[in-house]
Amino acid sequence: MPGACEADGRWFALRGRELLLGADGEIPVGPCPVDSRSLQVLGELDGRPCYAVDLPETAAAPPGGVFVDPKTLLDRLPQRAGGMLARALEIIEWDRSHRFCGACGAPTAQHSAAIMRACSNDACRREHFPRVSPVVIVSVERGEEILLGRSPHFPPGFYSVLAGFVDAGESAEEAVHREIFEETALRVRDLRYFASQPWPFPHSLMLGYQAAYAGGEIVCAPGEIEDAAFFHVDRLPTSFPLKATLSHWLIRDFCRRHGRVWPPAG
Ligand SMILES: [Zn+2]
Repeated sequence: MPGACEADGRWFALRGRELLLGADGEIPVGPCPVDSRSLQVLGELDGRPCYAVDLPETAAAPPGGVFVDPKTLLDRLPQRAGGMLARALEIIEWDRSHRFCGACGAPTAQHSAAIMRACSNDACRREHFPRVSPVVIVSVERGEEILLGRSPHFPPGFYSVLAGFVDAGESAEEAVHREIFEETALRVRDLRYFASQPWPFPHSLMLGYQAAYAGGEIVCAPGEIEDAAFFHVDRLPTSFPLKATLSHWLIRDFCRRHGRVWPPAG
């Protein structure tokens, strides 16, 4: 039975990587619309408690409800609701992938108060917390030009700023230099931190940097970067990242500093 606070919750119910929306196309509020046996407390948003529920792959949507790809919500959710959605996605993914202790293989159990799973083996008792994987994403600029590239899996014509995971034992700044060199053979300098963004696909934290071109000719990493080039601020690709993404903010900030409004109207 739901408790008093659960009767007026905001429900991030996931079936696999799909999110349940209500008949109004919004994240359901009020009493739990689904079987809430696998429930995680996320925190509070606009005075309403938020919960994540992990649904079995066979779960059917309640009447009027529909399951959608959460990425389709990115551009229309307010920032704080987007943050709560990211939290729900990451915690469910962590919960699903930490049912057994990585140290000894014994089953783990959800802690009653914290977002933590504890090993059930008395000789181990290791505690497992959600992990985030830092990714650097970089706007490399050369005067009125910005370096954009595309991966083989991008839609046709789509370009973005370059990104890559931070390695173990590496600083974010070292990762910027290494990733740009590995992907394009270019050198950069004058790194400036820009902003960060949780990216729950499945559990990244994007760290945005701006950097200046320092030298080299573009050589794309085979299999990783299909094409990369410096684009003039007036001739940017017409297929670009969603407005709610850090890559979009980096390109928009580059344009703003050169007195351009981007993306152009229409
Ligand atoms: Zn263990």
